[in-house]
Amino acid sequence: MKILVLNAGSSSQKSCLYQLGDTLPELPPIPLWEAKIDWTKRPGIAELEVKTSSSIGLEEELKTDSRPDVMAQMLETLTSGQTQVIDHLAEIAVVGHRVVHGGQEYRQATLIKLEVKDAIANLSSFAPVHNPVNLEGIETIEKILGTATPQVAVFDTAFHANLPLVAATYPIPYEFFEQGIRRYGFHGISHQYCANRTAQLMGKDLASLRLITCHLGNGASLAAIRDGESIDTTMGFTPLEGLMMGSRSGSIDPGILIHLLRKADYDAQSLDETLNKASGMKGISGVSGDLRQIISEMNQGNSRAKLALDMYIHSLRKHIGAMLASLGGLDALVFTGGIGENSAAIRSAACEAFGFLGLKLDSHKNDASPVDIDIAATDSAIRVFVVHTEEDWAIAQECWKLLKRQ
Ligand code: ADP
Repeated sequence: MKILVLNAGSSSQKSCLYQLGDTLPELPPIPLWEAKIDWTKRPGIAELEVKTSSSIGLEEELKTDSRPDVMAQMLETLTSGQTQVIDHLAEIAVVGHRVVHGGQEYRQATLIKLEVKDAIANLSSFAPVHNPVNLEGIETIEKILGTATPQVAVFDTAFHANLPLVAATYPIPYEFFEQGIRRYGFHGISHQYCANRTAQLMGKDLASLRLITCHLGNGASLAAIRDGESIDTTMGFTPLEGLMMGSRSGSIDPGILIHLLRKADYDAQSLDETLNKASGMKGISGVSGDLRQIISEMNQGNSRAKLALDMYIHSLRKHIGAMLASLGGLDALVFTGGIGENSAAIRSAACEAFGFLGLKLDSHKNDASPVDIDIAATDSAIRVFVVHTEEDWAIAQECWKLLKRQ
């Protein structure tokens, strides 16, 4: 079965083609074909990068602003040229999409029908940057592959759909909750994949474990996982809440927003831009939201870059503490995402705060670019894992399971 996965963001889109047989492999297989479209380099230009499992690569600049045109050209590389891996697009059995917001209704991977498309469109007011892009991807595939090819939506909110009411409800008038203003949580596909992978690496049943998964990328969130379910998470009604991030503020006093709206020249649009794109490490350092650049600036004596890094660590520790309290104990702390997987310094700084609980890192393992291994010292009271997140593979598995069930 050939499964195409589309993982679309506001500024880039990653796509993969998997070939799966009658049973699911234990470890993520290498995709037959992978593509990345990047719209951030220059206005009016999309950069397309394609790679096949036999290491044939292609890099092209496409002069267009139209996402559907770029997607059509990307799909052409599946069936023609050096990167060809299939003869016809009709060989694709199913297309899986990462959809950011599934609201209260969509709690698992769902076959896309008209009402699902309507729901994704209606939820755009909750996820204005992501849901419209996801819907556009679904409709473009419909046009190119036809409506006979099944498409599946895998929602980033689904894993958090059973948050207890105490964690999901905001302490504002209850009517807001009834209108859908509640904690949804995001990065669910990654948190769930990492939780399953950690249980597999520990040789234990996920249902017996208490885990905190730290997804630390440009966006960042933590999940507290008990009995295999997310019982608390740091992102909320939108992906702006919680940890300090690359360019997002994370949680701040809502009184600041009221003050800015009243006293300064801010409106909803400019607040949105400031809190999502000009805050976090970028806002504090004034340099960049990228951790590597922050560290490089700090090493050259930039004190605001140092403050940004110190604040990032403070925020991470504080929120791990909050998840720990929600769980009431911890078997393993799990790091993933660009920062979680690659920054030994951030992992070490985060863990140091929990030494009083008997959590001890093995510094050699932590420093040795770990992937899918336990980096805690043998006598640590809590295990610590670095897991390479595989969102696309998680989406492909959901598609495979859904088609098998039918
Ligand atoms: P996204 O959320 O956009 O998918 P990523 O998961 O790729 O982002 O994470 C991007 C972040 O990871 C950036 O802050 C980047 O600096 C950081 N990062 C990537 N590689 C390293 C590294 N080797 N050391 C430290 N930070 C890294």
